[in-house]
Amino acid sequence: MININDQTIEQVKSLINKAEKISIIGHHNPDGDAISGSLGIAGILKQLGKQPHVIMPSKIPNFLKFIPGTDNIIIHNEDKKAQQLLAEAELIFCIDFNSASRVKALEKDLETAPAKKILLDHHPDPKNFADFSISETTSSSASEIVFDFIKMAGYTKHLTKDIATALYTGIMTDTLHFSIETAGKQTFKAISELLDFNIDKDYIYNKVYNTYSWNRLKLVGYLQNKKMKRIKNHPVAYTILTETEKEQFNYQRDDHEGVVNIPLSAENIEVSVLFIESEDEIRVSMRSKGAFNVNKFARRFFNGGGHDRAAGGRLQIEIEEIPTYFKKALDSFSKSSTQQI
Ligand code: 5GP
Ligand code: MN
Repeated sequence: MININDQTIEQVKSLINKAEKISIIGHHNPDGDAISGSLGIAGILKQLGKQPHVIMPSKIPNFLKFIPGTDNIIIHNEDKKAQQLLAEAELIFCIDFNSASRVKALEKDLETAPAKKILLDHHPDPKNFADFSISETTSSSASEIVFDFIKMAGYTKHLTKDIATALYTGIMTDTLHFSIETAGKQTFKAISELLDFNIDKDYIYNKVYNTYSWNRLKLVGYLQNKKMKRIKNHPVAYTILTETEKEQFNYQRDDHEGVVNIPLSAENIEVSVLFIESEDEIRVSMRSKGAFNVNKFARRFFNGGGHDRAAGGRLQIEIEEIPTYFKKALDSFSKSSTQQI
C-alpha cells in the first residue's frame, strides 16, 4: 500500500481539479506496467471530465495493443506532438520510472516542462524530479500504486471495466504472472478487487503469453540450445543474441520477451543476463532469483538500473567483447559485494 498522507492526496486532487491540460508519460520501451498504469490514470481523468494525453517515448509492443486505450497513445518516435504537449501541460503524471533519463529522447522536455509533476512509481532510489513522488518499492508495480491512489483519492466510483483490465494487465506482467516476491497479500487483494469489474483474466493471459510468433518459438529454442552459457564458479547464465541471428529468425521487437527468465528455472542458476545486439548499442536485460542485486550490478557496469531482481542497461562495446567484459564485471562485483553469489 502506498504511504502518503491525506494532505498530499488532497493537494494532488486539487491540482487535477484545476488542470485543463494534463499529460501522462511512461518510460522508453514501455512495458505492460508503464502502459497500463498510464492508461489507468488516463481512464480516471476522463471519467472526471478531463481530456488527458498519454505519451510514450517509443513504440507499444504489439502483444500489448489489446489493452483498452492503447490506440490513442502518442508515440514520440512517430509523432512529435509529444514535446508540445509536455511544454503546454499544466500537470504531468510520470508512471513507472524513477529518473527523467528513463524517458530518453524526451528527458529535456520533461525536465524543462513548467507543469507540476506527479510521480507514481515502484523503482528504488527515485530521483527528485517530480513535485509529488508517490514511490513505493514494496509495491508490485506502478499499476498497483495507481490503483491504490485511485482508491485513496476517492475515485473508486469512476473505475470502469477498461481501467480494471489495464491495471490487471500491468500488475500481471510486472509480477511475471504473480510469481515474484513483490506480489504479496496486498497485490492479491488488489487483483480480487479488479476482478469485481468482470474483466476477462483468461483473455488477458492468452493475449500476453500465448500470442508469440512461430519464429519466436524457434528463436527461443535455438537460444536455449546453442547460446545459453554458464559462467564457471558463479551461479550465473548469459545469452547473447546477435544482429545476424535476429535476421535469421526474422526477429520482431518483442521476441526476446521472457527469454532472460528461462535460465532461472535451472536449479543452480541464480542470475541470468541477456545481451541483445542492435545497430548502435547492446541492450542488457538481467534477472535474479536470489540475493544477487541486479539493480546495483546494472548501475555499476551496464549504464542502467531497475529493481533488485529485474534490471537492464546498455553497453557500447563490440559483441565479441561481451563474455570477457561480463566475467570481469562479475568478478569485480562479487569481490566488492558482501552478498553470496
Ligand atoms: P527489461 O529487462 O525487461 O528490459 O527491464 C527490466 C527492468 O529493468 C525494467 O522494468 C526497468 O525497471 C529496468 N531497466 C531496464 N532497462 C533499464 C535502463 O536502461 N536503465 C534503468 N535505470 N533501468 C532499466
Ligand atoms: Mn513497473
